[in-house]
Amino acid sequence: MKKNKLLMMLAVLCTPLHAATYIHAGKLITAKDDKVLTDMTVVVENNKIASVQKGFVAPGEGDQLVNLKNATLMPGLMDMHTHISSQQGQGSYMERYTLNEADYALKGVYFADKTLKAGFTTVRNLGDQYNETVALRNAINKGMIKGPRIFTAAKSIATTGGHADPSNGFAKKIAGDPGPLEGVVNGVAEAREAVRQRYKDGADLIKITATGGVLSVAKSGMNPQFMADEVKAIVETAKDYGMKVAVHAHGKEGMKRAIEAGIDSIEHGTFMDDEIMRLMKKHGTYYVPTVLAGNWVAEKAKIDGFFPELVRPKAASIGPLIKDTFAKAYKAGVKIAFGTDSGVSEHGDNGQEFALMVEAGMPAIEAIRSATYHGAQLLGELDSLGTVETGKLADLVAVKGDPLVDIRLLQHIDFVMKDGEVIKSL
Ligand SMILES: [Zn+2]
Repeated sequence: MKKNKLLMMLAVLCTPLHAATYIHAGKLITAKDDKVLTDMTVVVENNKIASVQKGFVAPGEGDQLVNLKNATLMPGLMDMHTHISSQQGQGSYMERYTLNEADYALKGVYFADKTLKAGFTTVRNLGDQYNETVALRNAINKGMIKGPRIFTAAKSIATTGGHADPSNGFAKKIAGDPGPLEGVVNGVAEAREAVRQRYKDGADLIKITATGGVLSVAKSGMNPQFMADEVKAIVETAKDYGMKVAVHAHGKEGMKRAIEAGIDSIEHGTFMDDEIMRLMKKHGTYYVPTVLAGNWVAEKAKIDGFFPELVRPKAASIGPLIKDTFAKAYKAGVKIAFGTDSGVSEHGDNGQEFALMVEAGMPAIEAIRSATYHGAQLLGELDSLGTVETGKLADLVAVKGDPLVDIRLLQHIDFVMKDGEVIKSL
């Protein structure tokens, strides 16, 4: 073979399969730190960020150009607390008796699309009905449908009568006796079994309900619902399987037992006090506040018949407190990761949490970092997600204007790229 021909063949072989995309960003929040960079170019090749360069670098022949010169570009947003396969509404308590697995799966497809278009390219799903979010995650990862990267806990783990006992409020003849398979445990052995079952079911992490909750058909919204040895068994088993543990908690005692057992995040955290905040800082526990859900349930509690009467007073009293707790926790220096509990409020409204965080005293840049850098750190995925840096996955969003001047801009994301693919363009 002639040398020229060989060189030509080599050149063809070395050409990347996909052309690069050059994004010209007027402002860039990398989320590595508090800085905002101006006039930057982010080069995307395949599904990764190939480089981040100063100035507006001209694309090569065959490359694509995305003009975001009048916009602010940042990492894809990350919501650490969602329920993507369901959504609360007037009368939705009846759904437990009327819907099947397929109904929840298809709701998941619909809500995943809304979530992604709202700029949330990654979510944690903290509790579903029939492991449908495992199937949803897999279908999204295979490219069959569009949605955020999902890290799912599948079905939450509770104790009998606890917040995530799926038969709460049922008549005895239909309640059955749910056990570890359905996520209801009593004692150390069952706690271990339920974690191993979730591993087998394909869950990415574990979610437990360490105290009562607002929306379950049960009296207390804050009583401790796991003994210390049960939480400890959950955490130790989860660690063996490389899974993190997210903990729903409103009351203090339940939080304390969970944090001391070494869990990774406290969700809601309504009645945390100085002692709990100190403990969280000592153990490096993340706080995922979900202010939006607190406000939403308090608002709906005013409507007659919206919630069952057992739920209504809990929604009215616990809901409005979360914002204040968040303000105190931020001031105290507790690590905070963004989370909304969407599925309580409407999917796609996730971005409303930002304004609530800023109203409570968190600077806008920190609110953005809680939904990028800190989300990735909580997930243990900071190597591939959470910042705009060379080598990371190309999950990027942008809004026209400057969200540090008006944080509400994040309620309507103009540009979304996930895995290098443009989902929504300006
Ligand atoms: Zn939740």
